[in-house]
Amino acid sequence: MIHLERLPEPEILIRNKVEWLRIFLASGKPRPDSSKYGHNNVRTQLYSISHNKCFYCERKLSEKESQIDHYIEVANTAGKDLAFEWNNLFLSCDNCNKKVPHNAIPVENALNPFIYSNDEIEQHITFDDEIIRIKNNSDIGTKTIQKFRLDKLEHIRLQFFRKFANKYFEISDIARAENREYTEDEKEQLRSFSYPDHPFSLMFKVILRKRKLL
Ligand SMILES: [Zn+2]
Repeated sequence: MIHLERLPEPEILIRNKVEWLRIFLASGKPRPDSSKYGHNNVRTQLYSISHNKCFYCERKLSEKESQIDHYIEVANTAGKDLAFEWNNLFLSCDNCNKKVPHNAIPVENALNPFIYSNDEIEQHITFDDEIIRIKNNSDIGTKTIQKFRLDKLEHIRLQFFRKFANKYFEISDIARAENREYTEDEKEQLRSFSYPDHPFSLMFKVILRKRKLL
């Protein structure tokens, strides 16, 4: 998870959300119509917020893999009224969307990428290579990992970690053979793994810091 800035609310929601909510509440159905809150214009704006990554785990999502998640779940009485609220719509992967229900871990007890800064997020969660860890025995860190099942994605993070490790060894082998420090260009190639548009950028930030490359 990294800090995210919410972009302006899509026109389609501004124009229709009151009517859509009225229809949903009157229908008595347990779930709102996903073709409405998941309208293409909403989806596109959510993609732009996170460079097409899951808001919780930073996995890069293809259009087919992406899901629109209600941050405050519509299964809650309070969440029903937020079914079409822009601030309540999050982009998620299938793993993180299967989050632990509100009555077991309320979202208020977990990190929210729009509220917490990167520095704050990093006070609560960290990584040993691809393994996600709780920092400083943080309760909110523990609940964040449990709530969004962030420890279930280690096999996917490992694939990216291997890509980084290959690049890192390639660069460090050449530098050692030529008996020199890394060039700025080589450092840049490694640092690019930690940029906000890169999958699992927080994990790579931690990895790069440990190697004194950030
Ligand atoms: Zn995810």
